Amino acid sequence: MTSGESSIMRTFLPTSIVGSLPKPSWLAEPETLWSPWKLEGDALVEGKQDALRIAAHEQRRRGIDIVSDGEQTRQHFVTTFIEHLTGVDFEQRETVRIRNRYDASVPTVVGTVSRDEPVFVDHAAFLRQQTDQPIKWALPGPMTMIDTLYDRHYKSREKLAWEFATILNQEARELEAAGVDIIQFDEPAFNVFHDEVQDWGVATLERAAEGLRAETAVHICYGYGIKANTDWKATLGPQWRQYERSFPLLQRSTIDIVSLECHHSHVPMDLIELVRGKKVMLGAIDVASETIETPEEIADTLRRALQFVDADKLVPSTNCGMAPLSRSVALGKLSALRAGTDIIREELTAAKP
Ligand SMILES: [Zn+2]
Repeated sequence: MTSGESSIMRTFLPTSIVGSLPKPSWLAEPETLWSPWKLEGDALVEGKQDALRIAAHEQRRRGIDIVSDGEQTRQHFVTTFIEHLTGVDFEQRETVRIRNRYDASVPTVVGTVSRDEPVFVDHAAFLRQQTDQPIKWALPGPMTMIDTLYDRHYKSREKLAWEFATILNQEARELEAAGVDIIQFDEPAFNVFHDEVQDWGVATLERAAEGLRAETAVHICYGYGIKANTDWKATLGPQWRQYERSFPLLQRSTIDIVSLECHHSHVPMDLIELVRGKKVMLGAIDVASETIETPEEIADTLRRALQFVDADKLVPSTNCGMAPLSRSVALGKLSALRAGTDIIREELTAAKP
């Protein structure tokens, strides 16, 4: 197997997805977040592996170059990781406000948090066997993790974030050893808690990514296409300038790739300039719409982005995860992403002297 970096570099404008894909209906209820598993025991283990196999196959078949797990082995991008840690009691629940946006009943931090065994490493090793393409694995970022918990032990958001950063780094190093080429941290909370991002958010993220040879990415978005998020987006005004606060910090950080939401959002395209020098995973697929983008629409988004990011640093991608969509729509969007990217690949190749 070739190293990820070299095979990623060989592909011009490598396509990728942010995270989740719909799960097969025999594994979990479709179009539902936090959907309970329909299988148990050994059947569930096998079912998750079969779903991973399908997710990898569909991404390859539809021309996605950097293959992700589609979150087929987890119920939720934050909770499933936390469930595997000690120090968090899932029976003791408190209602907290998530990202200042909606109330949710969340587990309680009752003692020192630690990771006693790997969480996703076996799943990543399984995905590694399914493809020779570069693979990407997503973990929640420290700030987004603390934002979905009630903390009775540390009584400090920052202290708990540093603890989680250490734990995430342990997991990330083992994912890397299992053959993961890109490790992504999901930090939608970076679009909300701007002062904390500056004070310790980026520092804890760098701690989570410390010492990795794998490429590292941070995904910052405006959330899944669920009602609480679309209601919040409606309050953000005609221009969404949240990235203006985090991007200059990330531009100076050790993180290699910045994943952002772009297509159909009110994010001014020129904000991408603020991370000049980093690779940009550009959201060219709207995950809050059932309408499959046309290749030309995607090409148009990529073309406009290329004013602010060098072509050798652009990774065409989705805005966010696609778990809430129907399977046919999500897979259709993968094909469209590749077709739109191919238009730009041809244009750039034709323009070369
Ligand atoms: Zn997202």
